Amino acid sequence: MLALLCLNLDEFEKFNLKHGYPTGDRLLQLVAERLTHKLREMDLVCRLAEDEFAVLLKGLQNSSDLPIVLNKVLGEFQKPWKINQRNYHATASIGVAMAENADNGHRELMRRANTAMHEAKRQGGNQFCLFSPESHHQLADNFVIEADFPNAITHNELRLSLQPQVNAHTNHLEGFEALIRWKHPQRGMMMPLEFIPVLENTQQIHALGHWVIKHSLRLLSQLDKNGFPSLNMAINLSPCQFSDPVLMKVLLRNCEEYQIATERVELEITESMMLQDYEHALGLCSRFKQHDFRLAIDDFGTGYSSFATLNRLPFDTVKFDRSFIMQLGQSRQNQRFMNSMINMMQQMNLTTIAEGVETAQQRELLDDFECDLLQGFHISKPIIQSQLLPIMNQHLHAGAWH
Ligand code: C2E
Ligand code: CA
Ligand code: CA
Repeated sequence: MLALLCLNLDEFEKFNLKHGYPTGDRLLQLVAERLTHKLREMDLVCRLAEDEFAVLLKGLQNSSDLPIVLNKVLGEFQKPWKINQRNYHATASIGVAMAENADNGHRELMRRANTAMHEAKRQGGNQFCLFSPESHHQLADNFVIEADFPNAITHNELRLSLQPQVNAHTNHLEGFEALIRWKHPQRGMMMPLEFIPVLENTQQIHALGHWVIKHSLRLLSQLDKNGFPSLNMAINLSPCQFSDPVLMKVLLRNCEEYQIATERVELEITESMMLQDYEHALGLCSRFKQHDFRLAIDDFGTGYSSFATLNRLPFDTVKFDRSFIMQLGQSRQNQRFMNSMINMMQQMNLTTIAEGVETAQQRELLDDFECDLLQGFHISKPIIQSQLLPIMNQHLHAGAWH
């Protein structure tokens, strides 16, 4: 039995930009050296393209040998790469295709390993993936989404859905979170998780970001004119939008065009975003603050959330993840935990917002704990933009949402 590995470095372009091309070249040499050194002599290692290598593992006794070899290879990428006395970190994604023998279909084998490598990347990189027909379909699907997206903008297929954020005590409507939808001509209404992760691998995410900024701020100005002044808008930013060179310009230009004060715009950022390139992210966040945009940490309580980050970064708002809110009803212990977290955030002068509030019980508890704002199906589902004004007229009484 033999296995073909297709190995591609994660974010090698960024590595080159950040550390310079000579360092990138040296990294490639070191990768080649380590791979040849770590594998058996009968295995074949070759470089296919820029940062892509193929490894042919021959004479595997059975398929359970394979994970051992793969973990050995991935293990090499967990160690630092020493270049000119400095340690660098670089990981890789590995796609694996297997065959009984090398007699036929080497092209097909390569294609399969490549498909699996893309799947490993799609799942976040720094891992291996075995070829499966499903991953092949998924990849084909991703290509369609990528290819169709330019039409989404030119043919006016994108939609905003707005979810109300209300004061937990008074029900007063404070603003909305803008959530994107794509009304695809063949696939119908697509939810963001179906296409955002695909676009995040391409530059197209920047165009999506600009579209959301423009249309959500234009909506605020329309609301201003329709007797709903001073509402706020929360806009989600993907981690990769931090590398958009014109993001700040686009934000400022649209605020000016639609006459929206920057403090009415809250940018929602997840903490994983800060971890990718901390210095750059911190610099950008400080610039957002210089222009008086508000910054919210999204999905707080998932992943790496730490109080240290909150303390060091210029956030205004903490958005507790839905998973916290769901657990509220389950035990006293969970309630005490939530209560003390809210207290702590208040001590740090942060606005607190709970997302995914689905029941009256959750709402009452959060009000008791003095959480500032609430968002969730219990208050309102996200509302498609064309329905917004009639629904606001129906639910708003003296500024409060009922
Ligand atoms: P998110 O930022 O955590 O947004 C909240 C998600 O929870 C939304 O899903 C919303 O519809 C859903 N939700 C709100 N209240 C409830 C509730 O009470 N119960 C339950 N079960 N769900 C609730 P949606 O619209 O599918 O968005 C998913 C994610 O896509 C968002 O998660 C956000 O990360 C991303 N996203 C949405 N719009 C944009 C955008 O314009 N740009 C970027 N970069 N990401 C976006
Ligand atoms: Ca959000
Ligand atoms: Ca969230």
